[in-house]
Amino acid sequence: MKKIFALCYNVFLMFYYIGVDIGGTNIRIGVVSDEWEIIAFYKFSTTKEPFETVVKHLEVIFDEYTISGLGIGVAGVVDKEGNVIVSPNIPSFNNFPLKKEITKKFLVPTLVENDANVATVAEALFGEGKDAESFILLTLGTGIGGGLWSSGKLSSFPIEVGHMSINYQGKSCACGNNGCLEIYASAKAIKDGLIEKLEKGQESYILQLYEGNFYKVVTEDIYRFALEGDPLCRDILKEAGKALGAGVANLINLFAPDKIILTGGLSKAEKIYIDTAKQEIKKRSLEGLFNKVKIVQSSLVDKGGVLGAVALLKSKSGVLCRK
Ligand SMILES: [Zn+2]
Repeated sequence: MKKIFALCYNVFLMFYYIGVDIGGTNIRIGVVSDEWEIIAFYKFSTTKEPFETVVKHLEVIFDEYTISGLGIGVAGVVDKEGNVIVSPNIPSFNNFPLKKEITKKFLVPTLVENDANVATVAEALFGEGKDAESFILLTLGTGIGGGLWSSGKLSSFPIEVGHMSINYQGKSCACGNNGCLEIYASAKAIKDGLIEKLEKGQESYILQLYEGNFYKVVTEDIYRFALEGDPLCRDILKEAGKALGAGVANLINLFAPDKIILTGGLSKAEKIYIDTAKQEIKKRSLEGLFNKVKIVQSSLVDKGGVLGAVALLKSKSGVLCRK
């Protein structure tokens, strides 16, 4: 009887939070304890119907755990009511009332925020931003996102880094602007750039690897082949790195942060892409500001979005201050 009582008591006390990180390439869902331990973690590709896919996973989690709240970070511009206004890389979320639709299905406190803002909060609390007064987080993936931590708190305004123009007469972007950073420096840009060159008949090991069907190429293979010396893959990554460097130099000149923290799948391409970006940053940013800034990789990897979404949810105001 004593044992049963102890078991019931423990189960009764165990409340968890769910953090959801919806990116253009992957979706991550974590069940997080009150002590910030991730006790269950799921990662899967972003489908064409991400809302339905996320709901199916959440239903399973809600059946298994007692959930106190749900925090969601999504790649897109999100308003204060939790509506996704625009999401260039997840078209089904354009003008989508994500918070309203989620709370119809799950009756717990829910927060929906931009994914880069969520990851920024995670870095400030648990990652590379812990000791920085100000930093900019860059999410380098299918698109490019950014979050600004300034004077010890998350900026109240979003910074849409991916849609900062670095070429005012450049290619047109889905957002309506021309020459946006993410057209030149994102994983999608790298993939599209390679496909364009291959269509024009340029040679690459990629042609053999994909047996001619290069439209399916993934960025990881482009990076791998660039490291192995494939000239076309190297050139594409270098060009993207240069563009990233130009964009980051603008951010350093504008905000003078203590740190730039890089996260997202593409941030792992350190050797050619990130190295070129760093050289470009040094050339282009103001010397005094460049000497002060540290450019580092996130140590939270996959878990930043999940932890940050829960952290923002727990701070009722939506703006979290470190203690
Ligand atoms: Zn744009």
